[in-house]
Amino acid sequence: MSITITDDCINCGACEPECPNHAIYEGGKKWKISDGTSLCHDTLSHNPIKKDTYFIVSEKCTECVGFHEEPQCVLICPMNCCIKDDQNIETKENLLKKKLFLHDAKK
Ligand code: SF4
Ligand code: SF4
Repeated sequence: MSITITDDCINCGACEPECPNHAIYEGGKKWKISDGTSLCHDTLSHNPIKKDTYFIVSEKCTECVGFHEEPQCVLICPMNCCIKDDQNIETKENLLKKKLFLHDAKK
């Protein structure tokens, strides 16, 4: 499953640089699959998921599988507002496949 950010976010920005998938964006920012991945051809800009707080793109979040033992945003967030997203439940196997899709694409 992916992680999501609740409305308790205080916009400190600590989580964003910790994400190995560039799945975290500041509120109001457009996001792309190509940001921080090897899918450099997929440069379509998507509208922000949230305007006022940081948000996580579930299509890019692997719960840090393939990089770290624990979700890095969950560890660093001072508000404990990075939580499991019950709307996006995925197995570890699928998260690993997502990681490979995002980062090991043939160019
Ligand atoms: S769990 Fe990992 S991959 Fe997902 S948003 Fe947080 S830091 Fe990024
Ligand atoms: S670390 Fe937590 S409080 Fe800070 S921007 Fe990220 S989600 Fe928001």
